[in-house]
Amino acid sequence: MMQTIGILGGMSAASTQIYYRKMCELVRQRLGGLHSPELLIRSLNFAIIEDLQIRGQWDEAGSLLNTEAKALERGGADFIVLATNTMHKLAEQMMDGISIPLLHIADATAARVVKEGLQAPGLMATAFTMEQSFYLDRLRAASLQPVVPDTADRAEVHRIIYEELCKDIIVPASRSVYEGIAQRLAEKGADCVILGCTEVGMLLNQDNVPVPVFDTTLIHCEAAVEMALHP
Ligand code: GLU
Repeated sequence: MMQTIGILGGMSAASTQIYYRKMCELVRQRLGGLHSPELLIRSLNFAIIEDLQIRGQWDEAGSLLNTEAKALERGGADFIVLATNTMHKLAEQMMDGISIPLLHIADATAARVVKEGLQAPGLMATAFTMEQSFYLDRLRAASLQPVVPDTADRAEVHRIIYEELCKDIIVPASRSVYEGIAQRLAEKGADCVILGCTEVGMLLNQDNVPVPVFDTTLIHCEAAVEMALHP
């Protein structure tokens, strides 16, 4: 018996497509034949979400996510995958009154980093994720010491996410910028790099980063498929 995965996505639609494709691929690899995941995708309009982020209207965003998570539960999801790192800032509010579990992206990622015996992950993510405490504290709670890029690099990582990656635009020059930032994180003492935004894997992977890479999107998909197959 396979559990039904409830994906709350559209943040952005570019990365939600990666989630769907990856989960299909993983279930096919694991079960063979014509097997595919049982899942629901609720894909939100990211323009509305981004507007709430920019205005700092987090409470409103949290209540919107809560409504959508409830709809996934009503629709038959056995657990929820929130397909964005940033919006995990609102995880608690989102899960208020919901009885199915949330598969937390930072916990799944931290567990993998710890399992590999690494301790100081560099973090490439949105400014919200790199600068506020909700994500860094979650990593620290798993005994990790995250390393964030300096101010200028953080601004570039953030800008490229919103201006390009969330619009499904791949710019080779931006890939080079990201490679430089990952390199500088390693020079600052990072023993690995967490791609802490679900679109960053569109530019970086193990082939162009000098230290081990933990792609939150792929790790989240692997953890979700594992949970669906072995609840
Ligand atoms: N997908 C991104 C993340 O993982 C950024 C978009 C958003 O703010 O949700 O953080």
